[in-house]
Amino acid sequence: MRSIYMTEDLEAVRSQTRAYVEREIVPNAPDWETEGVPREVLDDMGKLGFFGLRIPEEHGGIGLGALASVVFAEELGRSTYGGFTITVLVHTDLAVPYVLNFGRPEQKAHWLPKFASGELITAIAISEPDAGSDVAAIRTTARREGDGFVINGTKMFITNGTIADLVLVAAKTDPGVKGSRGVSILAVEKGADGFTTGRTLEKMGWHSSDTAELVFEEVWVDDDNLIGEENQGFYYIMSNFQNERLAIMGQALGESQRALELTVDYVKHRQAFGSSLWEKQAIRQRIAMRQAEIDAGRELTYRAAWLADQGEEAVREISEVKAYVGELANRVLYDCVQFHGGMGFIAETAVERLYRDVRIASIGGGATEVMLEEVAKRL
Ligand SMILES: Cc1cc2nc3c(=O)[nH]c(=O)nc-3n(C[C@H](O)[C@H](O)[C@H](O)COP(=O)(O)OP(=O)(O)OC[C@H]3O[C@@H](n4cnc5c(N)ncnc54)[C@H](O)[C@@H]3O)c2cc1C
Repeated sequence: MRSIYMTEDLEAVRSQTRAYVEREIVPNAPDWETEGVPREVLDDMGKLGFFGLRIPEEHGGIGLGALASVVFAEELGRSTYGGFTITVLVHTDLAVPYVLNFGRPEQKAHWLPKFASGELITAIAISEPDAGSDVAAIRTTARREGDGFVINGTKMFITNGTIADLVLVAAKTDPGVKGSRGVSILAVEKGADGFTTGRTLEKMGWHSSDTAELVFEEVWVDDDNLIGEENQGFYYIMSNFQNERLAIMGQALGESQRALELTVDYVKHRQAFGSSLWEKQAIRQRIAMRQAEIDAGRELTYRAAWLADQGEEAVREISEVKAYVGELANRVLYDCVQFHGGMGFIAETAVERLYRDVRIASIGGGATEVMLEEVAKRL
């Protein structure tokens, strides 16, 4: 679909990502649903420059904005393998922005080139067994000791938890103050003493994505691993959530669009009651309405990303996107499975997988209800 927000650069991101996904991801990803995404794939994507879209040229990337992340995420989403897509996006758009947006100059110089090349894969660990939507309720602590901090606590549902080389951990550095204050972000390297990954969690969808519980017992990190400034973490999290929500809704849009295309193709061929399913007005009109909604959701998402790229505060717009597109993806996949009939229920058809994969779109990264509160506050 044409959009006034598209530029030559964005079209290049789209066409290069689409070609890569069709050539390297779609034929191989079925195996990853049981084995996980191989590290060589991430290495390859890093070498080809896919991880550097947002990273400035001086640090090894090409310095594009949030719109590029949305387009990239849409194209990864079109692979129909949500677990693969989130593995990449957690690195490029959920974790890396902490260093990109708030890292000190020496931290950027040290880490960003390694993030861009794929030498280091990252994760972001905020959620805990007793703190998800309510980020201010986190209990993990980091107490000052000498030239660094000692971290204690447990993180829950962490994507890339076992494969990441560097985990950015939200911890309370000043437990004496109210919830949202006194939080800092600390980078913990894989293999640090006292840092273990607990259970790898079995999930409804995103099967190729690694989701783990992380345990920190007296884990010491140097001052150099404190991202940005001490006690500013809550602000960093809320700010980076905006980028995260745009990226994961880009994914949901790509998945919805691809699922609808596969469904149009299916119903045009499938015969019942003397004609194709497409010739039943009820079916083609529902599909047409879902297409209209996807187009609306995409424009809403592009507009919000464009505003963010202009440096505008776009919390209301991005929260609207997260609420609208997260719910929409579930409606689209419900219909796609319905119109595939029994085939839509058979494991490992693309729509069956996507139906499971998109369920999280209205929960992760800000549940619909939490997003609607953000919108309501601003009405
Ligand atoms: C597969 C997967 C991967 C994840 N990856 C990561 C990761 O990499 N890093 C990370 O830090 N976290 C990650 N998460 C955690 C994710 O962000 C949280 O699950 C999400 O924020 C919701 O938190 P919760 O599960 O604790 O639900 P809760 O906060 O317990 O909320 C449960 C439900 O209650 C409703 N609700 C909550 N608050 C309100 C309200 N104020 N008003 C009305 N209704 C409300 C919503 O419907 C919500 O879904 C992941 C989760 C999953 C399942």
